[in-house]
Amino acid sequence: MLLVEQFRVGHDRGSSHGRSRIVRLAYPEVEFVELAKEAFAGWRELEREAGRQLLQLNGLLELVESAAQSSQDALEAAGAEYELLDVEEARRRWPVGVPDGWTVLFQLEAGIVRADLAHRAFVDGALAHGVRLEENTRIESLEDVDAKAIVVTAGGWVTQLVPDLPVHTTRETVAYFRRDGEPLPSVVQLDPVTRGHAMYSLHDPVHGLKAGAHHAGARVGPDEPGEADPALVERIVEWVARTYPDADPMPVAAETCMYTSTADEHFILERRGKVVIGSACSGHGFKFAPAIGTRLAALAADIL
Ligand SMILES: Cc1cc2nc3c(=O)[nH]c(=O)nc-3n(C[C@H](O)[C@H](O)[C@H](O)COP(=O)(O)OP(=O)(O)OC[C@H]3O[C@@H](n4cnc5c(N)ncnc54)[C@H](O)[C@@H]3O)c2cc1C
Repeated sequence: MLLVEQFRVGHDRGSSHGRSRIVRLAYPEVEFVELAKEAFAGWRELEREAGRQLLQLNGLLELVESAAQSSQDALEAAGAEYELLDVEEARRRWPVGVPDGWTVLFQLEAGIVRADLAHRAFVDGALAHGVRLEENTRIESLEDVDAKAIVVTAGGWVTQLVPDLPVHTTRETVAYFRRDGEPLPSVVQLDPVTRGHAMYSLHDPVHGLKAGAHHAGARVGPDEPGEADPALVERIVEWVARTYPDADPMPVAAETCMYTSTADEHFILERRGKVVIGSACSGHGFKFAPAIGTRLAALAADIL
């Protein structure tokens, strides 16, 4: 088995770089709650295999204008525990600025995955199972690949190999802030209309806090160079100033990262002849990686 990467493993031009990503069970759709549950078991297996901790579970605070907009129903349907708190109770428990009159859903099975360590652990695990790695090697066309089965997980570049795939790429911006003290739960503030994320934040092991605006970046091609968007950094700074009174309001760093999104934020996991395609991003795919990997492997096994 051969693993091919156009750059070096760990590069920062795609969607998986950086130290942390939110992991959570809380989703308004029960299918994502179930997929997250499966992924949690996969993360624990990878931790055992890698002999290191990858998950740091400090919980999740879902900030919603009303309980009806929260993930309450889906968590109930999946049998997952949670608490619904009013503003006073949430402010008493965490130094987090919840908007007046809003509701907070607290879910314990959540926090961060150390993305950099997890990425390395996946690659090292594959190498330990006999996979050969070729870095700095770009596949120009699937026609050129002489293999019984091909699994394509090309992130933002996928449409260069599978032109008709209904995805688009955006360059997103995140910023880092100095915050001391114990890590806080990850925070997602839901958009009252879409019930999707508006703003989010999570623990960063170096600076203390990472924050971003979801699906806010410009549409770009995967090879287009680009910097963090100053207008998005400003929006993130304003939100952090309201939400984290104990964090240093000035960002210490900002970076970009690519979303490859479908219209409904669901994942594309399909087989076309000897080609298996995995496009699982839309800005929320990392937490599901172990479960996505299992599904892609099963599709490939059907070919072999
Ligand atoms: C700012 C930001 C915040 C996010 N926050 C979260 C979060 O909190 N929680 C969460 O669950 N998810 C989050 N995500 C989403 C998550 O990071 C992505 O869904 C996930 O990393 C996607 O991984 P991927 O393997 O599809 O893409 P990538 O990591 O980009 O991998 C694709 C790889 O394929 C290589 N490649 C492409 N074309 C070729 C070719 N022709 N030949 C050889 N190699 C090729 C690329 O170089 C790249 O390394 C976030 C994403 C961003 C951008």
